[in-house]
Amino acid sequence: MATTAPALFGPEILDGKLYSGGWTAAGERLVTREPATGETLAEVGAAGPDDVRRAAQAAAEAQPAWGGADPHERAAVLLRAAEVLQANADELVSWIIRETGSIPPKADFEIDLATSELREAAALAPRVRGEAIPQPDGTLSIAQRVPIGVVGVITPWNVPLVLGMRSVAPALALGNAVVLKPDPNTPVAGGLSFARIFEEAGLPEGVLHVLPGGADAGQALCSAPEVGMVSFTGSTAAGRKVGATCGEHLKKVALELGGKSSFIVLEDADLDAAASSGAWGSFLHQGQICMASGRHLVHEKVAAEYLEKLAAKAANLPVGNPAAEQVALGPLINERQFEKVSSIVSDTIAAGAQVLAGGEGNAPYFPATVLAEMRPDMRGWREEIFGPVAPVMTFSDDDEAIALANDTEYGLSNAVFTSDLARGRRIAGSLRSGMAHINDQTIHDDARVPFGGVGASGNGGRFGGEANLEEFTQWRWTTERATPARYPF
Ligand code: NAD
Repeated sequence: MATTAPALFGPEILDGKLYSGGWTAAGERLVTREPATGETLAEVGAAGPDDVRRAAQAAAEAQPAWGGADPHERAAVLLRAAEVLQANADELVSWIIRETGSIPPKADFEIDLATSELREAAALAPRVRGEAIPQPDGTLSIAQRVPIGVVGVITPWNVPLVLGMRSVAPALALGNAVVLKPDPNTPVAGGLSFARIFEEAGLPEGVLHVLPGGADAGQALCSAPEVGMVSFTGSTAAGRKVGATCGEHLKKVALELGGKSSFIVLEDADLDAAASSGAWGSFLHQGQICMASGRHLVHEKVAAEYLEKLAAKAANLPVGNPAAEQVALGPLINERQFEKVSSIVSDTIAAGAQVLAGGEGNAPYFPATVLAEMRPDMRGWREEIFGPVAPVMTFSDDDEAIALANDTEYGLSNAVFTSDLARGRRIAGSLRSGMAHINDQTIHDDARVPFGGVGASGNGGRFGGEANLEEFTQWRWTTERATPARYPF
């Protein structure tokens, strides 16, 4: 990582501004606070529905020139953006740690993956194709992928750089203009950093707008007539509302939503490796990851040993301010999230779950928690917790494990630990989810793969690699005749 780059954010930029046709003063301010200390990190501009509508119009005006530019020129902007991101990695890592409460390795992971998203998107730009459909009369009939126009991107706070970049980069690369609305908890890491990166990379003004704001700004994006597609990442509850508004306005919507992923441990698994993977899957970023291992299903023959190893690991994970000390778990993002996690855990314990580690937090911190003796009717088993909690249940054969894992409306990512690869493959093949991993945990991403879920985890859209060609462009059919057509009347 280079440390000599000039700062991305001088005080003038973060002083009540939005990025919409350059840096403009907003009518309202949004305070971004450090979850660990409550300290104010910055006051940025807060966008309302009118700002969003204006931005959508301006983006629609800027898009044709950008969409019509040589794809290699667009690719060059994306590649420069990757360089700017890398050159300013230290500053961005610090924002991610302080705004999201994540530990440094998770922030580093965000920088690396966001860089890959930019490079993958650059490679995609010149690869847009079409096809010529043979016509007996010699008419030239062409179907081609063209930009959608303006793409609206709505993102959550938990992994803000990556979850924004996985839509912003391919949408821009494929010739669209973008209006990005990051979550109000992370307006810098998830929003204004994009503005600075692409500004430094030479993206023409007006092609990208960044508008930190709340649900009303998000809804305005869904209803703005100039926005042709909304790419939403967030909770299933908000995703349903986004989907409903986009449906009403007849626009394409990609929904990447919540999860309740299962981590299955068979009796032949390497239990030390399984416990380590299981801990990572449930406790990384305080469990605030859509693919977190929300259910541990362990074969009854090895359950006692696995629980002992997992609980020992959980009890030894230090919790604290990741900007000030070396910890494994940082703070939860805010008071609301702390209350939600506490309430699900205490209800689950009251319903009979056995606490083997953790169990109770001290806001904003919640320790790594292991709950045994789980039953399918318990809140901790049914609901997405979005906290550092590993609920564990036993099973007696493969069919029971599959049935328990599939007993959820979600379907994002699942995992199976076993020394028998063929058996693992059979089980993974029966799990209803967009992603599955054998001998690994549930949290994985890669800019080259089609990432996404089924059921309440998404509406079938996929981000990453080739899938982006489909996702961020649309078909257009044109015909040409050398001589005018003639009809009977
Ligand atoms: P959230 O749904 O509350 O907010 C996400 C974004 O949607 C924010 O920008 C928010 O301002 C906006 N929003 C909220 N209500 C809206 C509405 N009615 N209309 C338009 N926009 C609205 O989610 P969160 O709590 O910030 O994030 C956590 C959730 O996101 C979890 O459920 C997690 O599983 C999910 N998530 C999914 C993925 C994935 O790829 N599937 C990735 C990360 C997070």
